[in-house]
Amino acid sequence: MLNKKLADALNMPEEEIEGVYKEMLKVSVADKQLNCGACGYNTCEQMVAAIILGTKSKENCVYYHKIRATIDSLNEFITNTSEMLEVIKKASAKFAVFSEGMDKHLDTLGKLKKNMKDTFNGLDNDQ
Ligand code: SF4
Repeated sequence: MLNKKLADALNMPEEEIEGVYKEMLKVSVADKQLNCGACGYNTCEQMVAAIILGTKSKENCVYYHKIRATIDSLNEFITNTSEMLEVIKKASAKFAVFSEGMDKHLDTLGKLKKNMKDTFNGLDNDQ
């Protein structure tokens, strides 16, 4: 297992090591082995050890900021989409009321047309 060597070296349960990786938003094996060196360590595993020892924090990892920004963007997108759907829902409800009103007007116009037709047909017949 990926965390075993580090857990043994730090004499702590592997689950705690995994917890630090999760806090760093590293969930896949590939995430845990990016080893870009931007934090000043050659490997992500060394960075995890530094976080556990209290000399570094997850905010010192560029990958953490990248994933955090992606999550924040997705959350903003979901919030905006939800707000947009609410606007559409309200507009749809207003349109339903408008449509119902139009149906009533069309019904009234239909009756009026029929009355006029009856009236004029009656006049035609009177002549
Ligand atoms: S900056 Fe992050 S991804 Fe890069 S080596 Fe350090 S811990 Fe790993």
